[in-house]
Amino acid sequence: MAERRVAVALIVAAGRGERLGSGGPKALVSVAGRPMLDWSVAALREVAAVKEIIVAMPPDRLDAAPAGVVAVAGGVTRSESVRAALAAAADGEVVIVHDAARALATPALFAEAVDELERGDADAVIAAVPVSDTIKQVRPDGRAVERTLDRSRLWAVQTPQVFRREALERALSAPAELISAATDDAWLVERQGGTVAVLLASSENFKITTPLDLRVAELLLRERSSA
Ligand code: C5P
Repeated sequence: MAERRVAVALIVAAGRGERLGSGGPKALVSVAGRPMLDWSVAALREVAAVKEIIVAMPPDRLDAAPAGVVAVAGGVTRSESVRAALAAAADGEVVIVHDAARALATPALFAEAVDELERGDADAVIAAVPVSDTIKQVRPDGRAVERTLDRSRLWAVQTPQVFRREALERALSAPAELISAATDDAWLVERQGGTVAVLLASSENFKITTPLDLRVAELLLRERSSA
């Protein structure tokens, strides 16, 4: 078997989390007994290929990073936080990017995404799930439908997103206006003509955004800890 490549994991945790209404950085809100961020760090520590974990933290809370990770100050937008974390990564031909807000990502999901990248020739592999709702494009004023999209080909994209390092570095060298518009890094790779493969994940790997999400995450993580 070919020797495994070394992977570095970047966790972005510098968001303010305004939709959660916690009054502080979302990644530091307690879920099932530990800060949200710590769940992803613990899962990544169980992945054999991961040699280093870098966390982009709120600039005034570098002190709150878990022990054993490299903490860097995050940027104004999500992709700027990814860029800051990547700049601090010493090692790794494979880069895992993960949102701290997805506290339910499992070690198996991270490992599968890395394996999938190594098996194929795509520039990136992203976790995603087919959507279950019908999705409509609505007028900017929010009051009327413009069109209904074909649900059979729509997938909701998650993290982890795993990249060949050169592809991510190239993607993150895009002009500032694109970097600030990006809600995921794979989009920046797509724009440059790169190939992005999809890995079927689970809807349990949802992003904790609202107080309802926080309650569901709390239940699921407590259930897992007691299993
Ligand atoms: O805001 P949203 O939930 O989409 O953020 C996704 C992830 O990106 C979160 O884990 C958040 O902490 C992180 N983020 C960041 N730096 C920013 C904005 C968001 O690290 N400036």
